[in-house]
Amino acid sequence: MAAGSCPLLPEVPWCRFVVVGGGIAGVTCAERLATEFPSDDIVLVTASPVIKAVVNFKQVSRTLEEFDVEEQASSVLQKRCPNIKVIQSPVKRLKSEEHKIITEDGKEYAYEKLCLCAGAKPKLIAEGNPFVLGIRDTDSAAEFQKRLGKAERIIIVGNGGIALELVYEIQGCEVIWAIKDKAIGNTFFDAGAAEFLIPKLSAEKPEVPLVCKRTKYTTKVKRKKQTHQALDKLAVLLGPDWHEGLQLKGAKKLSHKVHIENLCEIKKIYLWEEFHKSGKVSLAFPKAQQDKEVMETEEEPWPVYVELTNGRIYGCNFIVSATGVVPNVQPFLDGNKFAIGEDGGLQVDKFMHTSLPDVYAAGDICTTSWKPSPFWQQMRLWTQARQMGWYTAKCMAADTLGEPTDMDFSFELFAHVTKFFNYKVVLLGKYNAQGLGSDHELMLRCTKGLEYVKVVMQNGRMLGAVLIGETDLEETFENLILNQMDLSRYGEDLLDPNIDIEDYFD
Ligand SMILES: Cc1cc2nc3c(=O)[nH]c(=O)nc-3n(C[C@H](O)[C@H](O)[C@H](O)COP(=O)(O)OP(=O)(O)OC[C@H]3O[C@@H](n4cnc5c(N)ncnc54)[C@H](O)[C@@H]3O)c2cc1C
Repeated sequence: MAAGSCPLLPEVPWCRFVVVGGGIAGVTCAERLATEFPSDDIVLVTASPVIKAVVNFKQVSRTLEEFDVEEQASSVLQKRCPNIKVIQSPVKRLKSEEHKIITEDGKEYAYEKLCLCAGAKPKLIAEGNPFVLGIRDTDSAAEFQKRLGKAERIIIVGNGGIALELVYEIQGCEVIWAIKDKAIGNTFFDAGAAEFLIPKLSAEKPEVPLVCKRTKYTTKVKRKKQTHQALDKLAVLLGPDWHEGLQLKGAKKLSHKVHIENLCEIKKIYLWEEFHKSGKVSLAFPKAQQDKEVMETEEEPWPVYVELTNGRIYGCNFIVSATGVVPNVQPFLDGNKFAIGEDGGLQVDKFMHTSLPDVYAAGDICTTSWKPSPFWQQMRLWTQARQMGWYTAKCMAADTLGEPTDMDFSFELFAHVTKFFNYKVVLLGKYNAQGLGSDHELMLRCTKGLEYVKVVMQNGRMLGAVLIGETDLEETFENLILNQMDLSRYGEDLLDPNIDIEDYFD
């Protein structure tokens, strides 16, 4: 156990539990520790002036869950759990051998057990270019909205959840969407699901959104600009519905106007002067004529130009970089020999323990290294941040009390509910046949504009599913994946809409 004294609690020689990060993983971990150890003080050190809390949690089925996420002042958390002490200052160094962390304001906190939940940072296609915007927090989303209001054309780079939501939400502005894959939404869908969704990009948007059955994002705190210096550098990441309340409208009088450039990446970004001197030509927004796209050059000057690897050049007002995140490990590396996962996260074992003694990690910052269940994979999503935060606290508690721990059930099956293009989307297990090679079959059912159902089968057993629309199949499919029943004899009936498959399996 470390020597030294906790500056916050001078009467005790150390703080038993210190959690770093006020996002979903850190707050959930601290809350559970606070409940398990009511007579201990739990110290939560965070870079941001607000914390994120899970509210209205509902377990929809064995593994599917719904909850709202609320940005709250730390005083709200401290009121709810009086034994949590929130320190607002970014951690700049970890001295793991001395069991100490040092914050930017120069204070030191000694711990017996530490959990690192500092999230991830967005990857930007170009650092320091004023025409390249990454969306990662409430401030950058507001900046994006301000610039969009004056924009006639933007270029969005990336094919994950953020890009998908943006292209669907933006109106009144031409959008060139550059993706490196063949089909849109590659992180979540296959080409079939992408085809199902594409007509929505040209359709008028409904006035009232469909009922939203998934995690929701709300901000209760009045965010003052002057309290935000720390946030500029280390921002609170957003999650589902991050654009809610923001009007994503450009300067043109048009509804959706999206052109997709697939199988390409950004080759070069030019500012107007540089582009002008280069003698290169840019293209106008492609026109659709009889199912063909007509490409014409254009003379109109733009503040910035993007040359794609397919040779096409487009001018625009600004570029949105939505190309994923990298785990925020940097502040903790100096002097510590962490095992780092392939994707740059702190490697954790099945007890969420990093390679260093008494240091745990949860949420976007970590990379799981245990042999996963055949139907689970790590994805940097809100649900997993909550589940990991919760389970890590359980492991820390068990270790402290010398008790055994079982792997949490939430890691048995990957289950995620979200909404894309105003459709409810449920992803289960190996929904994209991840890691299965060619040794699998797909079964599909699709009603244009209404629903898309895809199941991944192997040897007659269901391994994963994508459900788009109000299919009501999630609970049945969740059970079929978990119990690995041999479904060969049902053949195509499995997806026949006229057969109530729930009756089959009762
Ligand atoms: C625009 C956007 C949209 C998204 N949409 C979705 C979605 O639709 N669905 C979904 O499931 N997920 C979505 N995500 C991902 C989701 O937000 C993350 O997976 C989740 O927030 C991770 O939680 P976390 O607690 O690990 O980290 P975070 O929520 O990032 O929290 C990290 C915390 O650590 C603090 N911190 C950072 N560095 C330090 C330091 N040095 N010292 C102290 N504290 C520090 C931060 O201030 C913050 O409080 C989205 C992300 C973005 C950016």
